[in-house]
Amino acid sequence: LSEKLGGILDRLTGRGSLSEADVDAAMREVRRALLEADVSLDVVRSFTERVREQAVGATVVKSVTPGQMVVKIVHDELIATLGSDGQTIDLNAVPPVAIMMVGLQGSGKTTTTAKLARRLTQRDKRKVLMASLDVYRPAAMEQLAVLGRDLDIQTLPIVEGQKPAQIARRALEAGKLGGYDVVLLDTAGRTTLDEEMMSEAAEIKSTANPHEVLLVADSLTGQDAVNLARAFDERVGLTGIVLTRVDGDGRGGAALSMRAVTGKPIKLIGTGEKTDALEDFHPNRIAGRILGMGDVVSLVEKAAANIDAEKAARVAEKMRKGQFDLSDMRDQLLQMANMGGISGLMGMMPGIAKMKNQIANAGIDDKIIKRQVAVIDSMTRQERKHPDVLKASRKKRIASGAGVKVEDVNKLLKMHRNMADMMKAMGSGKRGPMAGIAQA
Ligand code: GDP
Ligand code: MG
Repeated sequence: LSEKLGGILDRLTGRGSLSEADVDAAMREVRRALLEADVSLDVVRSFTERVREQAVGATVVKSVTPGQMVVKIVHDELIATLGSDGQTIDLNAVPPVAIMMVGLQGSGKTTTTAKLARRLTQRDKRKVLMASLDVYRPAAMEQLAVLGRDLDIQTLPIVEGQKPAQIARRALEAGKLGGYDVVLLDTAGRTTLDEEMMSEAAEIKSTANPHEVLLVADSLTGQDAVNLARAFDERVGLTGIVLTRVDGDGRGGAALSMRAVTGKPIKLIGTGEKTDALEDFHPNRIAGRILGMGDVVSLVEKAAANIDAEKAARVAEKMRKGQFDLSDMRDQLLQMANMGGISGLMGMMPGIAKMKNQIANAGIDDKIIKRQVAVIDSMTRQERKHPDVLKASRKKRIASGAGVKVEDVNKLLKMHRNMADMMKAMGSGKRGPMAGIAQA
């Protein structure tokens, strides 16, 4: 029992560091979550290895358990691996700036071309020309033309019988002559990675010399994501990745795989079929999602919920004023019972060691806490606010109401006095330990 409490309090006070056993246990969950999210095996392996090295020996911060601490480290590393915010399309070149879309058939290239054209036109006030280089499917060219008409954005007139590279050249000439800022090149994809698609993409690239080459990839892509991204990067050279169907049920593991393998930033995400469903990429959102299912999430949530900041601030204010009464103590006891709460308050305070002894001496466990709460429940409101009024007869009444001995009532009152005194002492001083709590 006291071992359990000691364990809890060590966690609360932020002492100790992550042991190999802590890390291994948590990493098993993490590994499972990543695999469930469809992160490729190789990436899972190297990622977990890297995190493991970082995590072992790391200090466990206040108010979280070792498992939660590992999850936090994993989460941070996921974000770091996924890349920083604010990686946008680079238009810093002599216009017309060519942007080329590559990717498998059905990944969302044509839709993304229209989405990006819309954003560049409406938000960034650029003059944009779109061109479909998909000569295999006449419907594909028409698809882009329809999107262009809807958005009132120019598309390159369709000329039968031209090769993709020829169309690219024509698009750039039209872009120059027409005073366009940006020319978007929507290429043809295939259902699988093949040499023809690659050599065609490489030829278009050398003809158009695009400033950006964006791999458009379905976020639901699983283990193939790595091969896809690697192949395109090696043959064509990517400048960024656009992740589509982020509105779907997928967990976004492909994002981590592709990013880890190519090192290329994820610049945009598609979140729907409509042309306004294009957003900037925020690694923290995808990181949360990749860790998304299973036990790991609840661990993260628990870590976040551990500190009930509002309540802590309120009680801290009372403490500062020396008004920590028995109702507040009741709250603290209950929070202690479900283990989140005491950390919110006490975990933030230095000088915890003294209180730790106090609590340990009182032998607090769930049963005792319940009894103590019952004692407080048997008091009137006034008694809780001003325990000084509690003389022998009142104590007897309270004890029988709570089904305990008068001695137990006395113990509780003594504990309250000690806690209140100590808190008052810690709370005096203008920017003492409380200052931080009030801001939390
Ligand atoms: P392409 O073959 O690479 O040009 O792919 P398309 O642009 O034609 O897109 C294929 C299908 O995916 C179409 O039905 C699109 O509406 C749909 N699509 C594209 N991007 C998204 C997205 O971000 N979310 C959703 N839900 N659907 C998308
Ligand atoms: Mg298309």
